[in-house]
Amino acid sequence: MLSWRYSRSTTRADPMEKGKAREFWQKMRMSSLRKDIPGLGPKRAEPDRRPGLYVHVPFCRRKCDYCAFYSLPAAEPDLIAAYLHGLAEEAELRRQDAPEGVSSLFIGGGTPTVLSEEGLSKLVGILTRSFRPDENCEQSVEANPGTLNLEKLRILRQAGINRLSLGAQSFSDPLLKSLGRVHRAEEIREGVRLARGAGFKNLNLDLMFGLPGQSLGLWQRTVAEAVALAPDHLSIYALTLEEGTPLARRYSAGTAGAPSSPAYVDSTSLPLRSRPPLPDDDQQAEMYDWAVEYLAARGYGRYEVSNFSLPGRECRHNLAVWRGRDYLGLGPGAVSTWRGVRRRNLESVEDYAGYLAQGRNPVEPAGVEVLSPRERRSERLILGLRLREGVSLSAFRGDFGVNLRDIYGEVLARYLRTGVLILTEDSLRLNPAYTFVANAVLKDFV
Ligand code: SF4
Repeated sequence: MLSWRYSRSTTRADPMEKGKAREFWQKMRMSSLRKDIPGLGPKRAEPDRRPGLYVHVPFCRRKCDYCAFYSLPAAEPDLIAAYLHGLAEEAELRRQDAPEGVSSLFIGGGTPTVLSEEGLSKLVGILTRSFRPDENCEQSVEANPGTLNLEKLRILRQAGINRLSLGAQSFSDPLLKSLGRVHRAEEIREGVRLARGAGFKNLNLDLMFGLPGQSLGLWQRTVAEAVALAPDHLSIYALTLEEGTPLARRYSAGTAGAPSSPAYVDSTSLPLRSRPPLPDDDQQAEMYDWAVEYLAARGYGRYEVSNFSLPGRECRHNLAVWRGRDYLGLGPGAVSTWRGVRRRNLESVEDYAGYLAQGRNPVEPAGVEVLSPRERRSERLILGLRLREGVSLSAFRGDFGVNLRDIYGEVLARYLRTGVLILTEDSLRLNPAYTFVANAVLKDFV
């Protein structure tokens, strides 16, 4: 799955951590939006002050060649059992942080649907017992084609899960193979059929562009095939070559060596020495721009740099995070931001489960960070400017007790004068025409 996310839920990891920030800026750079596309996303309603809940499931069938997320391929049943046991303990410890329940639930990974029917049933049972999400709560699960069956989907639906996010990535079998994905294009179509049949009315597909050897035509076919399946939401991401992954080594200077981790070895991947050309920045920008216009013409409004939806189908969980709301993160490697404190859980499943078995919080020793007011304000701007709606001036004032203009007066005035930023009655937005220079602009607000 993506990237962090890709789609991917924004709460799987610290939005400001190095890799994520790099990915964010790469995506921002890719989006040379020259036209204002209609469909700005949902109106801001009174914010739900309850935290969102992200749950990390750190298992995958195998490791994709581009993936730097913490996820374990082909985990033994004992390890999965230890994880579920730990998660139940952690949920009980953290439920006090959400006495009125949670505003949204996002179960991501990894590949949650790699769990067995019994494992999935236990997972959703733990979360339902501890956090009692109500029927209006958006409850998403990430899934990969090739790991789904009707029984799993029914278990999820019956437990109240009402949104499914499928990691499609591409409808080209050779490209899927070159990424080391476990599925073929036909399994994406089958996954969508199964999900609709099980009653999922809210469906997202993740897609990637900038892939090895991918032409504009191939990308156009992938987007068209995705739209033909009538998803409610689409996330599109540029491929990032993450250091240490087989794909990055394949494209590093000189000849590619052997993979460092046996987790990546799989006979279905391309040989490490095979290097179809990677689309350059201009080609990627062309792919992105084409997708923005194509999707807009078919009713999918861009409400965030990488996210598009039919009206009313924006991902509420991610929107809340981008708007600066608190969220709890459960599971190995998950990050929480709650009342100005960011904490990161231990990554190792064994350590995570071991701490919880002793009644201890499974937090990285150096993983607790008290955010200063300045850091919180900067984050609000950087995340908020990802959104088409921009940053709400009244929400900023309400949360920080100061006017955005009073803090950033001089620099703000400069960018407003030059038209790089746009100020409306209650929002500050990035002018889409200046997305290419967004990095330089936002650095001035840090
Ligand atoms: S399916 Fe697993 S290995 Fe592949 S990208 Fe997603 S998290 Fe990474």
